[in-house]
Amino acid sequence: MPRYADKIGSLLFCPDCGTLLSLPQDGEFEVVCEQCGHVEPASSYENIEIVTRSEPDAFPSALRQKRKTQTKVHAANEDLLKVTEKCPECGHMEAYSKEAQLRSADEGSTIFYTCVKCKFGWRVNN
Ligand SMILES: [Zn+2]
Ligand SMILES: [Zn+2]
Repeated sequence: MPRYADKIGSLLFCPDCGTLLSLPQDGEFEVVCEQCGHVEPASSYENIEIVTRSEPDAFPSALRQKRKTQTKVHAANEDLLKVTEKCPECGHMEAYSKEAQLRSADEGSTIFYTCVKCKFGWRVNN
């Protein structure tokens, strides 16, 4: 049984001494290890090309994962409303507002603002 090179990613390593094997030249059917003389058939590299070709399949799942993360972030900001309110810290005219109802109706409500620009937070009692 001949031993074949160890494949790590798109690289081939000599099974006898672990040396990185160089790519076969055009027209060559085998690659000889510079360290120990191990002969690796060039067909081992053809298999690697197949692996490379199937790689794009890995991208859709990666994109799907990214989309899932974005949805989560969106859901977290769902109850935040963007309003025109002047930031007391930097003077920016846009802030996220969130209304919080206090225990009794007499106490009214408190609106929490967060500056879109500098993330400064403040609140206003109604
Ligand atoms: Zn070797
Ligand atoms: Zn601000």
